[in-house]
Amino acid sequence: MDARVVSPNSVSATKGATLGDYFSIVGHSEVDEIHSLAGKLTAKTVKMVNSTAVGGGVAEILNCLVPLMEEVGLKCEWSVMTGGNDFFEVTKAFHNALHGAPYDPPQRAFDIFLANTEQNLQHLQFDSDFVVIHDPQPAGMIKARRPGSQKWIWRCHIDVSHPNDHVWNFLMHFVPRYDAVLISSPSFSRPLPAPQYIFYPCIDPLSQKNQELGAEFIRDTLQRFAIDPKRPIITQISRFDRLKDPVGVIQAYKLVRKYLDCQLVLAGGGAADDPEGGQVLQEAREAAGNDPDVHILELPPWSALEINALQRASTIIVQKSLREGFGLTVTEALWKKKPVVASAVGGIPLQIVHKFTGLLTHSIEGTAYQIRFLLANPAIAAKLASNGHEHVRENFLMTRNLKRYLLLLLTLGQ
Ligand code: UDP
Repeated sequence: MDARVVSPNSVSATKGATLGDYFSIVGHSEVDEIHSLAGKLTAKTVKMVNSTAVGGGVAEILNCLVPLMEEVGLKCEWSVMTGGNDFFEVTKAFHNALHGAPYDPPQRAFDIFLANTEQNLQHLQFDSDFVVIHDPQPAGMIKARRPGSQKWIWRCHIDVSHPNDHVWNFLMHFVPRYDAVLISSPSFSRPLPAPQYIFYPCIDPLSQKNQELGAEFIRDTLQRFAIDPKRPIITQISRFDRLKDPVGVIQAYKLVRKYLDCQLVLAGGGAADDPEGGQVLQEAREAAGNDPDVHILELPPWSALEINALQRASTIIVQKSLREGFGLTVTEALWKKKPVVASAVGGIPLQIVHKFTGLLTHSIEGTAYQIRFLLANPAIAAKLASNGHEHVRENFLMTRNLKRYLLLLLTLGQ
């Protein structure tokens, strides 16, 4: 273990909107239903565990979900497991491998994973009624399961439909011991003894990332990053991760630029559990060369309002992932009524219904073609975007996610 080891910590999620604030977006009946379900779970304790407090979709969800669970009467605690660089290098390799990348893990990788699991087990407490473990990094925490009525849930946010066998077989030491497994898409299901439930990830429409913004703030943000508000802006918001294919986005932009004037914004930061970010950022900078219309923005974790403004200022949002669990950046863009061009991978097709809520692509050339099509057909782009907004309202807002969790806890607790 090295210098990056920090002590295991409980995370205080940012207290944002209260349930009543969602009335105008989701309607009274949805909120009433949540209260009525939660009434049957009053004072039940829930522990959420993941591997980063900032960066990435899981932290984004927990920041909103945990306070809402508390508000409706559950006692919900969020803990982040810790580890050194060696652990997060291993789990990043596991992550890529579970998404299907070739990988022949050395025994050392498994040893590091297990040693880190043991270290965290010494510090974290697991005496709640329900324990929800997010993703593979903390999957080994199941060893702390006590005999009795406690229920353990593994929430897998990754597309594990074609996993690397070595890594999946290793995880199978833990996963079958859970009472339930939550996956983001029916296509991610695996043969497992526990029941599997579809849980769509979701966004909080009232968070800083998604709330309405004034035109002045959006204008100022563009000015701050030297982006021209008068010319089309194509944007991908993502961690600098090879699976998000930032270099592919730049290549698609270059194809578009042969025909149409536009700018490209690639904005993102890192996540505490992703050690590859710096290298991928460098690769993106090299691919961009000295084109003044490519804006590569390295954003700190407290940039929710800036990301919101960049998304709202964009003409088209791109998500050219090579693999994707779900792609909350797509959800965020659709909610902001933006036309989206995204790869048909992982959970993205659940959100982008081709030619109805956006456009799906399979290549750099296809991405460029669809961007050109939308730039040339703004009325079609606006229609897709408006359909996309309603699709998110129906399926991918935080209140829906909260309701599903309550139903799950009620089902498992019986
Ligand atoms: N995000 C962020 N800052 C960044 C890059 C991403 O806040 O620099 C947010 C983004 O807006 C989204 C989440 O992190 O809410 C990314 O979730 P997604 O499911 O798209 O991808 P993941 O990073 O979890 O693979």
